[in-house]
Amino acid sequence: MVDTHRHRGLRQQLVQELKFKGIKDDRILNAFMQIPRHYFLEKTFAEWAYKDVAFPIDADQTISQPYTVAIQTSLLDIKQGDKVLEIGTGSGFQACVLNFIGAKVYTIERQKTLYDKTEKFLHQIGFGTVRTLFGDGYEGSPRFAPFDKILVTAGATEIPVKLIDQLKPNGVMVIPLGEGNTQKMLKITKNENGGLERENFGDFSFVPFLKGVNNFVNTSKQIHQTL
Ligand code: SAH
Repeated sequence: MVDTHRHRGLRQQLVQELKFKGIKDDRILNAFMQIPRHYFLEKTFAEWAYKDVAFPIDADQTISQPYTVAIQTSLLDIKQGDKVLEIGTGSGFQACVLNFIGAKVYTIERQKTLYDKTEKFLHQIGFGTVRTLFGDGYEGSPRFAPFDKILVTAGATEIPVKLIDQLKPNGVMVIPLGEGNTQKMLKITKNENGGLERENFGDFSFVPFLKGVNNFVNTSKQIHQTL
């Protein structure tokens, strides 16, 4: 894995683009400036890492578009030390952004191939404190609950009750919700007595939030850059 001046230049451009699209939080912009996003893609596709688009990774999944990662992160309003549960580890990029800005991150993936590769990769790039879990995100993580914030990075058709239960009072869940190809980005706040308040932040497109796990391990493909 090599990070060159050219990569840094491309990151600077991406950060400008995110600013232009309305991302204001300096901590988030700094995370995009400092984390070499091209490490999260196969070497052949490194060029795509700094374009503001989603990109395919292993197991028919995607690394979310940079703007989507930035929006979801800003809606969570992370405070230093917040305990955050992410559903959908994927490439691990979103988890690293959350960790970089001070969250204590737990992240669940249902695809064994992705789980195995990303778990190893996060240690290699110095993000070993992100706690990776293999399982069905609909179940959350009773072991590490309750959480200050929960982030769902796959498109859900219903709000998972077990995840709401695992939120602390005044906790926040960000979840894309909707049938088909588009979802509404919702910010759900759980108040002191368990009531829920919803805010809608517009249309986005995600891979589906599926039930159960996929234990099939595909060893042939690589998703991250090799050392
Ligand atoms: N946060 C990721 C985005 C990955 S795309 C990144 O930064 O790259 C969404 C991910 O959600 C996929 O990897 C998919 O396998 C995973 N996913 C879908 N349903 C899930 C479930 N029930 N539990 C855990 N992960 C799930």
